[in-house]
Amino acid sequence: MSTAIVIVGGGFGGLEAAFTLKSLTGDAITITLVDRDGFHSFIPSIHEVSSGKITSRSIQIPLETMLSPAGVQFVRDAVIAIDPANRRLTTAAQALDYDYLVLATGAENHFFGVPGAEEYSFRFRTPDDAERIHANLVRLLEEEQKDLHLVLAGGGTEGVEVAGELLDLIRDSGREFGPDGGSVAITLVEAQQQLLPGFPPEARAFAEKYLREQGVTIITGQRITAVQKGSIVLTAGRELPQSMLIWTGGIKPSRLIDGLPLPKDPVGWLLVNDRLHSPADDRLYAVGDCVAVQGPNGPLPLQRLAYHAQDQGALAGINISRDLRGRALMRYAPKYKPQLVSIGRGMGIYTQGDVFKAGAWVDALKKAVERKHLMSYLTRPLLSSISRKVPGIDLFKRLGLKLPF
Ligand SMILES: Cc1cc2nc3c(=O)[nH]c(=O)nc-3n(C[C@H](O)[C@H](O)[C@H](O)COP(=O)(O)OP(=O)(O)OC[C@H]3O[C@@H](n4cnc5c(N)ncnc54)[C@H](O)[C@@H]3O)c2cc1C
Repeated sequence: MSTAIVIVGGGFGGLEAAFTLKSLTGDAITITLVDRDGFHSFIPSIHEVSSGKITSRSIQIPLETMLSPAGVQFVRDAVIAIDPANRRLTTAAQALDYDYLVLATGAENHFFGVPGAEEYSFRFRTPDDAERIHANLVRLLEEEQKDLHLVLAGGGTEGVEVAGELLDLIRDSGREFGPDGGSVAITLVEAQQQLLPGFPPEARAFAEKYLREQGVTIITGQRITAVQKGSIVLTAGRELPQSMLIWTGGIKPSRLIDGLPLPKDPVGWLLVNDRLHSPADDRLYAVGDCVAVQGPNGPLPLQRLAYHAQDQGALAGINISRDLRGRALMRYAPKYKPQLVSIGRGMGIYTQGDVFKAGAWVDALKKAVERKHLMSYLTRPLLSSISRKVPGIDLFKRLGLKLPF
């Protein structure tokens, strides 16, 4: 029987693992990717879905369309349990046996046990979440004539980007806007002392100043401790009205990861070593948002970002193919790339390490990154199928030479 490799998750990490594995292992190995959703989505652009500038479909590619021509089987189903001892996983419809498993299941919204938060707020993790937010915003702006209080819970990248989108949407709607007397107000609440935790100080100060100047009320250093229909309560007991609360802060591991009988870090993220497999199971690899990577000198301080997930997915694929050939596994060493945060049409923030720049061009650059990502994933199946059919192309790759097209 041929070796079976199963990948769970068709996001950034899982897809990269699938394409890398396919190009390195050929047809003798069966590769199956399982995802509960039928699409790969460019998640970093969903803020624009929330304002209705774009639709979900414009940032999605059907997984079947990409995987089938590349020779990867696609199963659309939710994985509900994994039994590492017997190398078997269970979906809603079937059981799948594997020789190697790659987990790339991402993360979920974390409500930190705040009473009422799950019930009375809008999640913001997926294109569907963003569509629901957009539909409700349109309804409120068109139908509700009374004052509107739009509240964002969490001032990281997501909160800042959605604040920018709300500004654009409200201006386009023709409704009066502003904290003092406008009929629509935006409030952004962040538990830390400044917005954009983890960004260089200059970028954090800039985001706060810019949003305040646009009329957004920023509340930092306070947590939301309770949510009710129509209001939120802050740490100091202060109550604020809310017509719509969007939960843009906090992520946690999914229930699938919670239930895995394998080592985790103190928060509950699945632990992997720097070869990207579980320290307790050298056939179970995991990448992207769902993992904490243990380096030789302790945990690697990684933000949960798409390009880290992609790099890890590629390395997991390389290491599985090396393991199959009896070769030593490679170590993961993170590479750091620029981070782009849009703040609506007219502004964006670019950072790389301590370098900080801002301008409307960042928004255009982010759009270019989105297009390049989607285009490259549309052409990957073709390249992958050529590399399997044309002898010699593999040799080019193994020698590290650039393909002549
Ligand atoms: C609003 C927002 C904005 C962001 N902006 C940026 C940005 O500007 N730049 C950046 O680098 N990163 C950004 N990120 C982070 C980036 O999107 C993530 O780091 C990246 O998506 C992680 O990739 P992943 O493969 O680990 O998981 P994901 O891309 O989340 O993919 C997980 C996949 O697993 C599937 N899945 C989950 N559970 C199951 C199950 N039980 N059974 C079957 N399938 C399952 C899901 O359907 C999904 O397709 C942003 C994230 C969000 C939410």
